[in-house]
Amino acid sequence: MNPVWLGALARTGVIGMLALAAWLAGGARAALAAIVIALAAAWLIELRHLARLRRWLGGPQGAATPDASGVWGETFSALARRARSAQRTRNELAAALARFTDAAHAMPDGVIVLAGGDAIEWMNRTAESHFGLDRRRDRGVPVTNLVRQPDFVGYLRNADFGAPLALESTRIPGQRLSLQVVPFGSERRLLVSRDITQIVALENMRRDFVANVSHELKTPLTVVGGFLETLAENLPALEPGQAERFVGLALEQARHMQRLIEDLLTLSRIESAAPPALDEEVEVAELLAEVGREAAALSSGRHGIEIEAGEAARLLGSRSELRSALANLASNAVRYTPEGGRVALRWRLLEDGSGLLSIEDNGIGIEARHLPRLTERFYRVDQGRSRDTGGTGLGLAIVKHVLARHQARLEIESTPGAGSRFSARFPPSRVRTPAPGAQARS
Ligand code: ADP
Repeated sequence: MNPVWLGALARTGVIGMLALAAWLAGGARAALAAIVIALAAAWLIELRHLARLRRWLGGPQGAATPDASGVWGETFSALARRARSAQRTRNELAAALARFTDAAHAMPDGVIVLAGGDAIEWMNRTAESHFGLDRRRDRGVPVTNLVRQPDFVGYLRNADFGAPLALESTRIPGQRLSLQVVPFGSERRLLVSRDITQIVALENMRRDFVANVSHELKTPLTVVGGFLETLAENLPALEPGQAERFVGLALEQARHMQRLIEDLLTLSRIESAAPPALDEEVEVAELLAEVGREAAALSSGRHGIEIEAGEAARLLGSRSELRSALANLASNAVRYTPEGGRVALRWRLLEDGSGLLSIEDNGIGIEARHLPRLTERFYRVDQGRSRDTGGTGLGLAIVKHVLARHQARLEIESTPGAGSRFSARFPPSRVRTPAPGAQARS
């Protein structure tokens, strides 16, 4: 039976018994008085329990359940159980919310929740840094009051969110953001911002690169086309030897295009290849001798070529890549040094175990303002001189890539009119020296 009815029945029984005893002892009046007194006592007990209940509900969370027996005892226990379960649910929800908030803050994209009138309701840290906002200070403020760029305001107003909006940051110079609005709920919107600075820079680089390559190929191709046209139209009328001269000049341009394509392929190969392994060993003295011979062939006796191989050592890395880098530096030294000049190829072990490969010349040198841009593709100090000596404008870009892939650094020192030194500094992890005594035995 329901404990409430059981309690009521027990109380009624007790009152009835009291009334019966009073009636037997003192008649009807005594019975009536007993009933009134018993009901008043029961009423007082109920009031006391109600007061305790009120006090308990108004007290702190988790306070001890009031002592009571019977129906009141069960009621207090049931309420305490419910309170505990509600608290558990609240704790779980708070933990889940904290996890979601942490995840939203950790997102690389900025997120702003906009309520009616585009008032800021919530934002993550990335959005704060993208727009220069403050999560606490700017809550409730319409975002268009804080980000006032006309493109942005127009984008939000037009409500056409099919394509993202690219926006220049007013806070960080050069930073580009891509914004996308996603409506949700009845009148809320999610504003997602992404930093696309790198992507835009890469896209620009790609565009410039294609334009540069096209330009580099167009010039020799026009020359070859011109000679061929002349030959096709006027071959019988040409003076003796003229045809041979035109063919020779066209061949020179074709070779230039070939070199350009080879350098482009080398660049693309080293850009996409896996980093050079540490198990290929390149004997430095042999490498210097080989590149020295090539430089001598290119110079055809017009320069003095010196080699100082220094301490015996091997470099750990790709032989073909290192050879290509060193050959480019040596070829530059020969090409940018007037006849009678000197080119030196040197290797030196440094105290900290790193190795220094340097190519030094006493040629035309380079003004300091050009040095930071020298390794850019197609950057040349003197366009004419580079072309005349068969340069493609890609040599130092190849050198920079190869060295970076070997964790080596390119250092350039140069004085206009006095000469240049291009040095590659290899870290100890890429340099292997013979074990002590090994050289003496061999
Ligand atoms: P290029 O094929 O034009 O030589 P590089 O990338 O090898 O292209 O070099 C870029 C530019 O750096 C050259 O055009 C030249 O102006 C300058 N340069 C490179 N090496 C030297 C050097 N040893 N002496 C003087 N200038 C040099």
